[in-house]
Amino acid sequence: MTSTYRKKPIPVQARELTSDSYRGLIDALTAEQFVAGGEAADGTVYLEIRTLEGQLRAREGDWIVWGTHGDVWPVRGDIFAETYEPAIPLPAGFRSEQLVAVRCAACEYEYDEDESYTCYFNSVEQATTCVRDAGWTVLKDGRVLCTAEDDEDHDELRRTVGIATAS
Ligand SMILES: [Zn+2]
Repeated sequence: MTSTYRKKPIPVQARELTSDSYRGLIDALTAEQFVAGGEAADGTVYLEIRTLEGQLRAREGDWIVWGTHGDVWPVRGDIFAETYEPAIPLPAGFRSEQLVAVRCAACEYEYDEDESYTCYFNSVEQATTCVRDAGWTVLKDGRVLCTAEDDEDHDELRRTVGIATAS
């Protein structure tokens, strides 16, 4: 049986390949990594890079990414936008953790204990216990309903999943 995993957020250094960054990127590559570079027929710049997976061509708009071990590889611009985001640098004594917040499926209100700040939990189990104690409903499909009453969207969702309404 498989379980769900997600990639650990390992920080990388990266820069987009443009006509402006082209020179600086060549300087940042080692002699081993830099194979060739220049202007393509359509006037855009490109770089041939030797990566751990062989020689790859980076085209203008691609991102050149350096891993923690000094290895380098190109990533297509749209893939980069989908899979990378700016990292918050953490001082040595800190590490980040995954937290869970709960949002109502009908009104998108996020559970907050004192109605001022969203509550974050260490696990789905802990969050479920807490919002149930507060009167929220956790549905079988994982969606959650807040305690709002006399509201069309909430009543509609309650009807859909077969929860009896007070009215
Ligand atoms: Zn709600």
